[in-house]
Amino acid sequence: MARIYVASSWRNEKQQDLVSILREKGHKVYDFTRPDGEPKNNVWDDMNINHDNCATEQFADAMANPEVEKRFETHLSALTAADTCILLLPCGNSAHSEAGFMAGLGKRVFVFNYNKEVKPELMYLLYEGYTNNMDTLLQWVEEPIQGICKVCGCTEDNPCFNPKHGYCSWTDETMTLCSHCANKEIAEDPETIHCVNDDADVFK
Ligand SMILES: [Zn+2]
Ligand SMILES: [Zn+2]
Repeated sequence: MARIYVASSWRNEKQQDLVSILREKGHKVYDFTRPDGEPKNNVWDDMNINHDNCATEQFADAMANPEVEKRFETHLSALTAADTCILLLPCGNSAHSEAGFMAGLGKRVFVFNYNKEVKPELMYLLYEGYTNNMDTLLQWVEEPIQGICKVCGCTEDNPCFNPKHGYCSWTDETMTLCSHCANKEIAEDPETIHCVNDDADVFK
């Protein structure tokens, strides 16, 4: 199970498809069009700002608006909580900033494109891989990450808890399977809480 930030454009008609497919596969996915679970407008539409051409001063004022800051903070907390970013093409400058930020943090970024053709970009070499094949993308996403339980997604800072067994620990040297997922009895115990520090609001 990966925590995925899908970075894309409001104009990308495939964004909802990709979010649904990843969720069906059991991943936690951040959908920027529903940052708190409810459908939202593009923040610029809410402020009557032209997406493509806006006076610099008007833009500077808008960036200080509390609504804009709030939306930014929500995206930023999802980026911080995610372990994987999928840059879904075609998309614009915000999505590319998000992908670059994730790569800079040492997190996985996969570039995905439903189309046969793509605009070549040298700096995509910052990212882990590029494909337009959904099976390949899903395979990459499934690859376990050291320090993250491949079943529940817990980490040392965000462990699982069971009243009888306490907090989980690693069962393997690669640190990809936690004790509370490896033990069937604990895994199926309704009192087991996986990832105790998960912010339920970030990933729906
Ligand atoms: Zn686990
Ligand atoms: Zn665990």
